[in-house]
Amino acid sequence: MKRLTRRIFVLGGLATAGVAISPWQSARAAAPYPFKLGVASGDPAPDSVVLWTRLAPSPLNADGQGGMAAADVTVEWQVSTTDRFTSLVASGTVTARYADAHSVHVVAGGLSPDADYYYRFRAQDHISPVGRTRTAPATGTFGRDLVMAFASCAHFESGYYTAYRRMAEDNPGLVLHLGDYIYEGGAGSGGVRQHLGSEIVTLADYRRRYAQYKSDPDLQAAHAAAPWLVVPDDHEVENNYANMVRADSSPALTAAQWTARRTAAYRAYYENMPLRPSSAPSGNSIPLYRRIRWGQLATFHLLDTRQFRDDQACGDGWKVCADADLTSRSLTGAAQEAWLLDGLAQHYGTWDVLGQQVFFARQYDASGAASMDAWDGYRASRARIQQGWRDRQVRNPLVLTGDVHRAWANNLKADYANPNSATIGTELVCTSITSGGNGSASTTIPNGATNPHLRFSSDRRGYVRTTISRTQVRADFRALASVTEHDAPVTTAGSFVILDGQPGLQAG
Ligand code: FE
Ligand code: CA
Repeated sequence: MKRLTRRIFVLGGLATAGVAISPWQSARAAAPYPFKLGVASGDPAPDSVVLWTRLAPSPLNADGQGGMAAADVTVEWQVSTTDRFTSLVASGTVTARYADAHSVHVVAGGLSPDADYYYRFRAQDHISPVGRTRTAPATGTFGRDLVMAFASCAHFESGYYTAYRRMAEDNPGLVLHLGDYIYEGGAGSGGVRQHLGSEIVTLADYRRRYAQYKSDPDLQAAHAAAPWLVVPDDHEVENNYANMVRADSSPALTAAQWTARRTAAYRAYYENMPLRPSSAPSGNSIPLYRRIRWGQLATFHLLDTRQFRDDQACGDGWKVCADADLTSRSLTGAAQEAWLLDGLAQHYGTWDVLGQQVFFARQYDASGAASMDAWDGYRASRARIQQGWRDRQVRNPLVLTGDVHRAWANNLKADYANPNSATIGTELVCTSITSGGNGSASTTIPNGATNPHLRFSSDRRGYVRTTISRTQVRADFRALASVTEHDAPVTTAGSFVILDGQPGLQAG
């Protein structure tokens, strides 16, 4: 793919001198370079996309303000059909507020459907790197085939972000991030690099943690390559939290302090992600479950399985647990479940893609125990959604999952206890970007004997690259031999195809 460097784009600015638009010249700047966290875009519609940046000349400052003075700053933005910005299709100014850690979320409108665009910012006489983005196809049209990559779990200390770099090089049209974008723990030992500070609790802590992660050039390259659809999992707040219930008591927090922590975590998440202003948090809650329609090709139903869930049954962990069957239990909450089923009933696109966090298919070990943090701990909730899409005759349900630091491809079954029951959907699980370290070359399917619907597994780090067309979804499980050495090559550990109208995995 074309390298999007600051140098190229500054030259582009100079090259436009003399044309009708007023080009951005590189000026002698008094302030230090503020675009050290890169740029991003997200949540495309047929006529608009969100553009994001955050000014931070000194990203690692402990106050979380990135070295910016306590004042608001005007930021200019431009959208063009070329990376030289010789003509603009949209432009404007936005205020980067000190109160928002100088993050901006620009809704760039007036765009054409199913089109590629470039964007950049200028502030304090500095020009940002160039990002590439894309709009969704218009309602009722398929648009081009879509290369969509998805990923999760990028523990900073566990490895380098080579997988994000390789994802950018695959030239995707869209990226889904399914959570654990950051981890909340304090500085550890034995990793390839270290978190700054102790376990993050305050708004300043969370802001600095995002700044540390976003300083990584490989992560910046992945953001600059395509628009992202993001949903958090647990570590954007704290490990395995369930709504207002914490999974551990370290650090010790009063109920009020925990509420304040969750508020800070959601606020920093919004500040640092290319989300529409409609996803801005309100105090201790953040409206994140949403639908992104991709014309007639696909609909992305992005779920939030942390904020509204019941507490993990039987004390969490892997358990044989009758309570996991209680119909009163929900992973989504009643409102999100109704919203999802209503959206599935609309048949907007060929592929109904559920972008979500935790393992969806049944996975029992030999003793019958299952992960209480996953859908196995909320079996009635899963059954309502599976039956819901069957009742609504959803043609192509496809569940995308993160969280488990291992790649999987699964057939979803009408009755998991009966291997001969109908296959009613498909699940693809991405491995981690780094979390868990290098992993191994193993493709043994854990618990495969007790769960024959689990069809593939890989213990490598990486991501999943999908190619979505009107007739099929192809999935390539992209794998790195190492994340503790930077810049490892990527290979494909396995490939599958899902055919339109035929739920389940075919050999790729
Ligand atoms: Fe994780
Ligand atoms: Ca997780």
